[in-house]
Amino acid sequence: MVQDNWQRTIEYVRLSLTEACNFCCPYCRPEAITPETQTNLLTPDEWLTVLGAFHQLGVRALRLTGGEPLLYPHLDELLQKLQERQWFEDVSMTTNGSLLGKRAKELQKLGLNRVNISLDAVDELIFDVRTGRTGQLPAVIEGIEAALAAGFTSVKINTVLMEPMSDDMVRSLLAYMEKWPVIWRFIEYMPFQGQTFRGPTFEEWQAQLTRICGGPLIPVEKNGAKKGAKSNNGNGVEADEVKDGKATAVKKSKSVTGFGPATYYALPQGPVVGFIFPMSHSYCHECNRVRLTSDGRLRLCLLRDDEADLVSLVRQGKSSEELAEHIKDVLQLRREQHEGPDMAAPKRAMWRIGG
Ligand code: SAM
Ligand code: SF4
Repeated sequence: MVQDNWQRTIEYVRLSLTEACNFCCPYCRPEAITPETQTNLLTPDEWLTVLGAFHQLGVRALRLTGGEPLLYPHLDELLQKLQERQWFEDVSMTTNGSLLGKRAKELQKLGLNRVNISLDAVDELIFDVRTGRTGQLPAVIEGIEAALAAGFTSVKINTVLMEPMSDDMVRSLLAYMEKWPVIWRFIEYMPFQGQTFRGPTFEEWQAQLTRICGGPLIPVEKNGAKKGAKSNNGNGVEADEVKDGKATAVKKSKSVTGFGPATYYALPQGPVVGFIFPMSHSYCHECNRVRLTSDGRLRLCLLRDDEADLVSLVRQGKSSEELAEHIKDVLQLRREQHEGPDMAAPKRAMWRIGG
């Protein structure tokens, strides 16, 4: 187990496999910056040297991201090698879902446990604007439905709140929440493209959902139990827990809440939603993760440009043990917190970090 100088245990690594992406979401990778290819990718064996170091340091969870991680050309080989090693109790992926339809089952068999799929709108015209592409919504919906059929431990949907949502748009999302056994998470816009967008605040969003759903949102504990809910054994843990995106009586702690920072609520109709508001409701004090960029750098904070070169060490022939010693020292440079809602945009763009 490794801790930083602020006594935060690092147990979670987010690995951006590639900067390439087939979408141009305006809050992440606007049309004006659209390099489609990347030449300096790390090989699966190079990543294994790095990930072996994090395994030795006690990291328990790995998330693959990008760019679009399904565009990493050696994904199957990497997953297969990770499956042979069983280093991480949780291997998950964040994807835009457009290429998932035909691959979901095969990825699940290769040991991918969970997927988070980004979906900002279910109206085709709005979806096109949100992805900078036309006609991709059916492929993403096919990807989500394939993921649901593939047997992943959980399927979550990520929606970025880049502007206020009309009640009609919220209702159209709610219809899908009722239809799909997913957990739907709403993410506050982070100013990677400057202070360009402004979505609802936490309180505004909570109030809008409450009004449209016709009742209060019930907080869900990190272990999946609804706060204050009556249990069937009197200890308040096993009853009313969350499974398949709905409040049920099954305990599924990490598979529901994952290793991330979301605050979860059950809607009166049963589906569970997550709120992730890193700017206005910072979770820096409990930040348990670091990031690896596709050019082989260790990034200490999503919202700060503090990075350390690892790929040069790997290419000099350093072992996982040697890397682990180095990483342990670098982790002590993590700052206590980010600079808050008025911070300047980080130099490395979101599509080059992976969220
Ligand atoms: N391409 C994949 C996808 O879209 O899911 C993975 C990479 S993407 C950078 C990871 C997550 O970051 C997505 O859920 C995306 O919506 C979110 N994201 C991107 N830019 C953001 C921003 N400026 N503020 C908040 N979330 C953002
Ligand atoms: Fe690509 Fe994901 Fe960024 Fe959209 S959010 S541009 S899909 S990396």
